[in-house]
Amino acid sequence: MKGKVLVIGAGAVGQVTTQKCAQFPEIFTEICLASRTKFKCDVIAAQLSRKIATAEVDADKIEQVVALINKFKPDILINVALPYQNLVIMDACLETGVDYIDTACYEAYDAKGFSYKEQWQYYDKFKAKNLMALLGCGFDPGVTNVFVKYGLEKHFDEIEYLDILDCNAGDHGLPFATNFNPEINLRELDQPGFYYKDGKWVEIPSLSMKRDFAFEQVGVKDIYLIYHEELETITKHIPNIKQARFWMTFSDSYIQYLNVFRNIGLTSIEAIDFEGQKIVPLQFLKALLPEPSTLGERTKGKTNIGCIMQGKKDGKIKTLYLYQICDHQDCYKEVKSQGVAYTAGVPPVIGAALILQNKWRMSGVFNCEELNPMPFLNFMGKFGLPWKELEGVEFDIRI
Ligand code: NDP
Repeated sequence: MKGKVLVIGAGAVGQVTTQKCAQFPEIFTEICLASRTKFKCDVIAAQLSRKIATAEVDADKIEQVVALINKFKPDILINVALPYQNLVIMDACLETGVDYIDTACYEAYDAKGFSYKEQWQYYDKFKAKNLMALLGCGFDPGVTNVFVKYGLEKHFDEIEYLDILDCNAGDHGLPFATNFNPEINLRELDQPGFYYKDGKWVEIPSLSMKRDFAFEQVGVKDIYLIYHEELETITKHIPNIKQARFWMTFSDSYIQYLNVFRNIGLTSIEAIDFEGQKIVPLQFLKALLPEPSTLGERTKGKTNIGCIMQGKKDGKIKTLYLYQICDHQDCYKEVKSQGVAYTAGVPPVIGAALILQNKWRMSGVFNCEELNPMPFLNFMGKFGLPWKELEGVEFDIRI
């Protein structure tokens, strides 16, 4: 019912995850925060009212992760480093017999794009060792997947149309900054848009489809269709979906910056020669941009992320909107972090609590929509992410 947790990654999300674990000593009896730069772990540890262990680990090196696990002996590991590390950390969990959670699907350093396929291939290995790997348990992916499963179980006979709407209306007062790791964020945006329709993936030019939506407590915002990783898992695990799309808010200024970065090659991951040295333009750009963990104090406004579903119940068409609103400054007061890191960093703690309490414990590799949504939704308020549901919301489901 309780246990020791090892958190890997001391960035913006790792800060929230560690703070949240520390708030629940009755569930997380001991905590170790490890990352590439130990100093960052110590800064986070110093903010807590509880003593936690900290450690340096390069999670690209399996022998270092295995040695750390063998030393600390956690019951569960939360990976909030970068998606590049997912496979190495999963291998280390298999070798040492520890359950695994992450918040974003694997990406290779040297290729843009992402898919769960490689992590799904670990299913038999985790099952054989009676271990669980819970993939993509952040907000989106994560809570959005849980919302869809709840919609299917409680409101619909089948969901036909799904729109996931991610609004960050935060203002940090800087000309340009990303809400989470700039390298991962810009890799995600620097690809064509894809949506799912009638069993096929439809490709459109990047950021070429735009709508607007009136978000509660935020107001009307432009939203752009982008490809997002939960579309891959939800369309696989939720039967009969005809159309699934993901939308994100961007300001005109954000898009202007993005286009400039792209047009001059700064989002490229191909190494170039610069005065006798190889540099990757996107990594150089990341080094220039603000670290998301430094944005907490200056970010004001709200996030509002949710899912609009349309489907049938007893032969009648019905729509349902499930969403969650976070205030950046409230998050900062609580855990010294902005709302995007908060919404991403709390769900893996809920997942870990449910696995430790055997409410979500399974053998194998799972995405959040494969599990019972109720225990997760019941914990969301307690862990700081109260959510709402509304029937009859209008959204244009036509393409
Ligand atoms: P940050 O860049 O702020 O933090 C990443 C941390 O991981 C840094 O502390 C970094 O160390 C550490 N790290 C990087 N490489 C290694 C390594 N090889 N070994 C050990 N530690 C390493 O990123 P965020 O906190 O913004 O994002 C963390 C994760 O959360 C990402 O995978 C991101 O995709 C995911 N995410 C998920 C969301 C969701 O809703 N599902 C939303 C937002 C983010 P160092 O400080 O030394 O660089």
